[in-house]
Amino acid sequence: MSEVVFVGTSDAFGSGGRRQSAYLVRAPSGAVLLDCGTTTGTGLAALGIPRDEIDAIVVSHFHADHFGGIPLFLLASLYQDDRHKPLRIAGPPDVEARVRRAAEALGHPIESQDWSFPIQFQEIRAGGESAVGPVRLGAFPTRHSPEAHPHGVVVQAGARRIVYSGDTGWFDELPAHAAGADLFVCECTLVQRSFEYHLSLEELVENRERFDCGRLVLTHLGEEMRSLTDYAGFDVADDGLSIKL
Ligand SMILES: [Zn+2]
Ligand SMILES: [Zn+2]
Repeated sequence: MSEVVFVGTSDAFGSGGRRQSAYLVRAPSGAVLLDCGTTTGTGLAALGIPRDEIDAIVVSHFHADHFGGIPLFLLASLYQDDRHKPLRIAGPPDVEARVRRAAEALGHPIESQDWSFPIQFQEIRAGGESAVGPVRLGAFPTRHSPEAHPHGVVVQAGARRIVYSGDTGWFDELPAHAAGADLFVCECTLVQRSFEYHLSLEELVENRERFDCGRLVLTHLGEEMRSLTDYAGFDVADDGLSIKL
């Protein structure tokens, strides 16, 4: 059995007092964290998820609400956990340089510490599938700020397939990437289409019939989205939601 724990489900700005993007995938052979926003440390602590459980952090793209929490995750693993098992950090091309630059800018350069555990960087590329820690991982490009190298992520966790949209606006190939997933975690920042780089409930309703997947859960909810009471029949995530697959 696998499990997905929604550690953070807000948009970039913490709308509704929620936390930014992070999803823990517990697979039979280990755990990976999909995205690690600046508020993810708070989320892991609030949900009682030990950092040590996480074998790999997978970054969908280089925006602060998706990878800004990595520098302090590393530091806490060293000073609070005395971690010894390796930590893999996987992400789009340039992941090592981006994480190093972010850590330096935030005051905790990676090279300034004597780490008690190996930090291993791994690039994931669209189209291929590779082993990342305890899971197999694929990626696909999305329609989002190009300079952030935006990708969606496909996780094969044991017999279960989990697809995560990352951040994206609508593009016609999206349903094909989600096809066959046991769980599709899909961003839905907006209520109505108004920005090319984020999805809206309006577009998902229009294209509902095109998704041929198991459970579809909306996340990355903006201020308007989280204040709705009717989501047109879609499942909507909240911080702390756990789905067993
Ligand atoms: Zn985002
Ligand atoms: Zn983004």
